[in-house]
Amino acid sequence: MSSHIKLLERLKIQLQGHIVVGREQRDGWKESAEFYMFKCPVHGYVKNYVKGYGKRLECPECLLEMKNKAVEDIQPELIAINRSAFD
Ligand SMILES: [Zn+2]
Repeated sequence: MSSHIKLLERLKIQLQGHIVVGREQRDGWKESAEFYMFKCPVHGYVKNYVKGYGKRLECPECLLEMKNKAVEDIQPELIAINRSAFD
């Protein structure tokens, strides 16, 4: 993902934390949103839009991992409940 980032863009991200990459509209959105590129300490250069009132920029890869991890955390408990129902 980071291979096509120009040196100038990398420098700008280092200096100001992010760069504007332009507006993008995704499925189900009423209007387009401004997308930014920034550097995630784990995943490198990533792109996302600002969310919520706190104006947060979150790494989409980190969010995906958190989501997947949450599902993993829930599963063992569900299995335990199901098993005890058959005792
Ligand atoms: Zn990340």
